[in-house]
Amino acid sequence: CGIVGYIGHRDAYPVIIKGLQRLEYRGYDSAGITLYDGENIHLAKTKGKVEDLKNKAEASIPIKGKLGLGHTRWATHGVPNDVNSHPHYSNSGDLVIIHNGIIENYESIKQALIKRGYTFESDTDTEVLINLIEEVKKKEGVKLGKAVQIALNQVVGAYAIAVFDKNKPDEIVVAKLGSPLAIGIGENEYFIASDASPFIEFTNNAVYLEDEEMAIVRIGKEIKLRKIKDDAIA
Ligand code: GLU
Repeated sequence: CGIVGYIGHRDAYPVIIKGLQRLEYRGYDSAGITLYDGENIHLAKTKGKVEDLKNKAEASIPIKGKLGLGHTRWATHGVPNDVNSHPHYSNSGDLVIIHNGIIENYESIKQALIKRGYTFESDTDTEVLINLIEEVKKKEGVKLGKAVQIALNQVVGAYAIAVFDKNKPDEIVVAKLGSPLAIGIGENEYFIASDASPFIEFTNNAVYLEDEEMAIVRIGKEIKLRKIKDDAIA
């Protein structure tokens, strides 16, 4: 299981695919990618290998854009299949997430969201988390970073996550508890990954999140690590 994200001036697709291949040693059963092409987000995901994902993506979506998230999944909730593969979208279609780990209390959160009208395509705990983030964002009227923080304080489990909003394509919000997450810092570009191997060829400058830390990774802004339990995020 691995995560790779990119935001910057390069084509995200080759960076993410190569990055996922470097993380293959971690083991996985499915793979997926979302790319933002400057206007919209496009999704390709499949059970199988990164090579299968490559074939599917190149045949089915525009493989362009300077922002994207990629994932290799090791299924914990829901069988390995195309639908349960990551990334997952929120109900509005605006928010995208990749997640390594387990949300243990996902079932009760899912039931509460269903009561509020949310629907679910997959059997994953991850799709519950992205809709919880969406619900918090709407209900509290807060920005994405704050919504992620509030949502994570309601969650029991382990995670490395990366989330973005297609309406605000200059930032990726990341958080970690239990699963590894590194940010590679380049010139006007950021890389996100489970370890440094996906971005080692682009930058030597990396920060590793500690457990219960999160960061808003925004173009033109320095990385500032925050505590998930802190109240400081605006
Ligand atoms: N719990 C999530 C799922 O089953 C993520 C698994 C992983 O770490 O890849 O979809």
